[in-house]
Amino acid sequence: MPSVMWFRRDLRVHDHPALLAATEAASDGVVPLFVIDPVLWERSGAPRRAYLAASLRALDEQLGGRLTVRCGDPVDVVPQVAREAAAPSVHVSADFAPYGVARDAMVGRALGQTPLVPLGSPYAVAPGRVLTGAGQRFKVFTPFFRAWLAHGWRSPVGAPATDQHWVRLRGDQIPGPIAEVDLPPVGETAALARWEEFRPRLGTYAGDRDRPDRDATSRLSAPLRWGEIHPRTLLADLDDSAAHSKFRAEVAWREFYAEVLAANPEATWRPLRPEYDRIRLAAAGPAFEAWRQGRTGFPIVDAGMRELLATGLMHNRVRMIAASFLIKDLHLDWRLGARHFMDHLIDGDVASNQLNWQWVAGCGTDAAPYFRVFNPTGQGRKFDPDAAYIRRWVPELARASDPHEPTDCPDYPEPIVDHAAERLEALARWAEIRPPVPPD
Ligand SMILES: Cc1cc2nc3c(=O)[nH]c(=O)nc-3n(C[C@H](O)[C@H](O)[C@H](O)COP(=O)(O)OP(=O)(O)OC[C@H]3O[C@@H](n4cnc5c(N)ncnc54)[C@H](O)[C@@H]3O)c2cc1C
Repeated sequence: MPSVMWFRRDLRVHDHPALLAATEAASDGVVPLFVIDPVLWERSGAPRRAYLAASLRALDEQLGGRLTVRCGDPVDVVPQVAREAAAPSVHVSADFAPYGVARDAMVGRALGQTPLVPLGSPYAVAPGRVLTGAGQRFKVFTPFFRAWLAHGWRSPVGAPATDQHWVRLRGDQIPGPIAEVDLPPVGETAALARWEEFRPRLGTYAGDRDRPDRDATSRLSAPLRWGEIHPRTLLADLDDSAAHSKFRAEVAWREFYAEVLAANPEATWRPLRPEYDRIRLAAAGPAFEAWRQGRTGFPIVDAGMRELLATGLMHNRVRMIAASFLIKDLHLDWRLGARHFMDHLIDGDVASNQLNWQWVAGCGTDAAPYFRVFNPTGQGRKFDPDAAYIRRWVPELARASDPHEPTDCPDYPEPIVDHAAERLEALARWAEIRPPVPPD
C-alpha cells in the first residue's frame, strides 16, 4: 500500500525530510497530494491564486504528472484519500501557523488509526526550539538571533530516488493560468536558479536592499512561503562575511516572526501591546479605497500599492512606507491593511505579514516606537532618488518634472491628506493611550 505525502507549504522535492519519510514508509510508492482548501482559496486575490496554481503545475511536472489535487475541506479530503490508497501513514511538514495547527489537529483526529506523521517545518529551526536561558519564548529579535545562531540547523537532505514510484489517484484539475497576472518564474527549479543567480550578488545586498528601483534583493520570499526552496538550502551556502551575515539576519527575521506567532497565536489579529486596542481609529471609507487602489496622491505609496495589485509583491521598504501611511496618515486599523496585503501578496505569510504590520504600528513585540512617523515623500526621495520605481508603477508620472511631488500631472490625484497635520494627529492619538512613564 502506498503512503500519502500531503503537501502544503513545501512544494518541492529536494531537501524535504517529510517526503523522504513518506518514501521510506511504504514499498508500494507514495501518493503525492495537495488539497485546495476553499477557506484559503476564496479569500485569495488573483496573484496569490495564480502563484499557487503555477507552483502546483511545476510540482506536478517534477512528479511525472502524478500529483493528486483535490478541492475541499482537508478534514474530509485527507482521510478520504488515505482510505482510497489504504495508506499506512500520511506525511506532512509541520505547520506552526494558527490555522494550520488547528487544521492538522482536526485532520489527525479524522484520520483515526492512520497516523499523521509530521517531520521538518518551513523553518531552519522550528518554532519553540530556541528558548531564553530561563526557558521562556523570545520576544525581542536580537537575543533570539544570537540563540538561533548558537542552536544551528541541519544540513540539507537529498531528493528521493529518481525511480521513485508516485501513485496518482482520481483528482480535480489544477486551476488554469490567470491571464491578467504577471508572475515571476514559479516552482522549485526556478527558485534554485534564482538563488544561484542572486548569490554572487550578495556583496551589494546590505547597501542596496532598501532601494526599490534596483534588483538588489533575493526575491525569494514567495518560494520560501510556498516551500519551493527551504531556508536551510540558502543558509548552507552562506559564509561568515559581513554581506552574507546581513542576509542570514533577514532570513532569521522570518524565523523570529514564526516563533512569536507560534508562542502568541492571538497576535494574528490582536496587538501584542494591549494598550493599542484603545487607540482612536478612523472608519474605513474613501481614503482606504484610495490606498488600496494606489490613488492617494503620494507617489511612493501609490507605486507600491499598484505593484502589489499587478504582481502580488511589493519591495520591503515600500511595504513599510505604505503600511505606515495607512496607520499614521489615515489613522486606520492596521488589521485592514494586513488583510489587504494577505489577500494579494504571493508571499503572504500570516506570521511575517501580521507581525511586520504590528512592527510598523508600534504595537508588536519589538521596539519600533509609534512616534517615529515615516514621511512618505522624504522616503521616496531617499530610496528612489531618480523616481525610476515611481515612474514604473505610476505611468501618469512618467513625464512629471518632480515625480515625488507632482504639480503638473492632471491625471494624477491630489494628496488625500496633509502629511504634516496627520503626523501631529497620529502623535496626539498615541499620547491618549501611551502607558505612563514610570517614576525614576
Ligand atoms: C507591512 C509588511 C508586510 C510584510 N508581509 C510579508 C509577508 O506576508 N511575507 C513575507 O515573506 N514577508 C513579508 N514582509 C517582509 C518583507 O517585506 C519581504 O520578506 C521581502 O520584501 C521579500 O523580498 P525578498 O525575498 O527580495 O527579501 P530579501 O531582502 O532578499 O530577504 C531574504 C528573505 O528574508 C526574509 N525577510 C526579509 N525581511 C523580512 C522581514 N522584515 N520579515 C520577515 N522576513 C523577512 C524573507 O523570507 C526574504 O525572502 C512584510 C514586510 C512589511 C513591512
